[in-house]
Amino acid sequence: MKWRERHSLAVSGVVVVATYAGSAFSVETKWVLGVTMMVDKAAQNRNSWETMVGQFVFPVVNSLYNRRGIRPAFRRALQTEKLDPEEVAAMQLEKLRQVATHAYEKVPFYRERFDQAGLRPEDIHSREDLKVLPPLEREEVIDHHHEMVIDQYRPFVHRSDLSLRGPGEPIPWARFKKNRVVRNMSSGSTGSPVTFYEDGQRTALNWALGWRHRSWFGIQPGVREVRMARVRGLTEGRLRVPFLRKMLWSQLILLGMNLTKEDYFFCIEQLQRFKPRVLWGITSAWVGLAEFMEEHQQSLTGWNPRLLITWAAPLYEHEEELLSRVFQCEVTNNYGSREVGHIAVRCPEGRYHIHDDHVLVEVDESTCQEPGEPGQILCTTLDNTVMPFIRYRIGDLGKVSHSSCSCGRPLRELDQLLGRTGDIFRTSDGRMIAPNLWCRLFMNPELESSVRRFQVVYERSGSIRFRVVRGINYDDSKELMLIQQLRELVGTATGTSFDYVDSIEPHVSGKLLMVVREVPE
Ligand SMILES: [Zn+2]
Repeated sequence: MKWRERHSLAVSGVVVVATYAGSAFSVETKWVLGVTMMVDKAAQNRNSWETMVGQFVFPVVNSLYNRRGIRPAFRRALQTEKLDPEEVAAMQLEKLRQVATHAYEKVPFYRERFDQAGLRPEDIHSREDLKVLPPLEREEVIDHHHEMVIDQYRPFVHRSDLSLRGPGEPIPWARFKKNRVVRNMSSGSTGSPVTFYEDGQRTALNWALGWRHRSWFGIQPGVREVRMARVRGLTEGRLRVPFLRKMLWSQLILLGMNLTKEDYFFCIEQLQRFKPRVLWGITSAWVGLAEFMEEHQQSLTGWNPRLLITWAAPLYEHEEELLSRVFQCEVTNNYGSREVGHIAVRCPEGRYHIHDDHVLVEVDESTCQEPGEPGQILCTTLDNTVMPFIRYRIGDLGKVSHSSCSCGRPLRELDQLLGRTGDIFRTSDGRMIAPNLWCRLFMNPELESSVRRFQVVYERSGSIRFRVVRGINYDDSKELMLIQQLRELVGTATGTSFDYVDSIEPHVSGKLLMVVREVPE
C-alpha cells in the first residue's frame, strides 16, 4: 500500500468517526464540514480516494445504518457468475428452502398459507414444488403488512409507523440499536402504495448487486456517481447530509421529482462541477433532464459519464435513444421494486439477467395467453429478511428463460419484459400491445421536431387518447400520418383521439408516466 493510500485510509477513518460522533453530540455542522473539506483536499488523487470509498468508507458508514456486509455480498455475487447454470440453480434451491423455513417458523402469516396449501418447507425439492402456494397479491400485503414481519421484529413495527422519518430513511446508529425496523413504501405509480418493513440488510444487498451490475461495464465500487432520486436532495437546501454523502460516498444526490426550470439548470451545473462517471436513478428524471438539455441547447462540456443506469420504471426505446444522445455514454436499466429489491439488470449485450442468487422469478402460468408466452411475474426473496415476500405478484409481465446470452453469464434471462400489467393495451379483438410500440410510433424520423412529449391514456370506454405537446414542425399532415399508423396497429374498431396540451404533468408519485390508465386493471 502506498503512503498516499495509507494516509487517505487513516484520514477517512477519522472523518467517519468525527462526523458520526459530531451528529451524536450535536457538534456544530460547520466544524464537521470543515473537517470533511480538509479530507477532500487531502485526498487530492481522485482515483485513490474513490478506491478508498469503495473499499472502506462506504461500507463502514453503511454498516452504522445496519447495512452490513456489502463487500462480502459483492464478492459472493461475483463468485456466483463463475458457476455453471446448474450450480446456480442448486444454490437457488438451497436458499429457497432456507427462506421457506425462515418464513414458516417465524411468520404466522406464512405458516398459515403453507399449511393451507399442504406444503412443508422440507418438502421443497425443486422450484416447481413452490407452485402449490397461491400467489401473494398486492392487496394482501396492504392488508397484512404487520403480520408479514418476523416474530422478533413485530414488537417494533408500530413504533416505526409513528416515526417521523420519511419512507426508507435509515435509523442513525441502527447497528447498535435493538429497534432497527424501518418503514418503507413503494412509489404507488402502479396503484396504491405498499407499506413494508426492513432493517437495512436488503439495502446492503441492493448496493452489492448494484456494484455487480456496474462491474459488467468495467466500473469499480466507489467511483463518483450522481443519483436522481425521490429522496430529499440538494435542491431542497438540506445541505449537511447531501454534502457528507458526496464526500464519504462519492455520491451526489439530485432531486428527481417535479423539477422546475431552475432545478434543471441547477442539476446541469452540479453535474458539470462534480463530473461523475456514473449517472443513475429514476428513468423519468433522467429523461426529463435530457429533454430539457436538448430543448435549451445545453450539453456536458469537456467530459462525459461512462454509464447511465435508469430504474424505477421501464426504459423505452425512444428514451434510451435520447439518453445516449444527450449524455454520450452507455445506457442500461435496473429492473426491480422497492419491496423485493433488485430483480434483473441489463448486461452490455442488452439482455436482462435475473439476480438468481437473491430472487426467484417465476411466471404465473394461469396468466399466459398460450403456454410459453409472457405472463405475470412472481418474485420470492431468497434472503432471510424482516419481511419475506413469497410468490409476490409484482405487477409486471415477462417471460423467464435460460441464459443464452453471448456475455456468458449463468444467470437466467427475463425475456420480453413487457412492462407493467396496467401499461399493456388490449385491443377490441383481444391483442396485447406493449407500451414500447407507442414509442416506435413516435420515433418515426418523419416526426422529427414535431412532438416534444406524449402520453397515452387508456380511456374507460376502451379507446386511446394521445396527449401531445407539439413541437415546431407539427401540423395536420403529421396527425394524419399518426392516425393511419395507429389504425394499422390497433385496428379500426378501437377509438383514438388526440389532445394537444402545453405540458404533461407528473403523476402524484412524482414520476412522468408514458401510459395512464383511467380505470384500474
Ligand atoms: Zn448477458
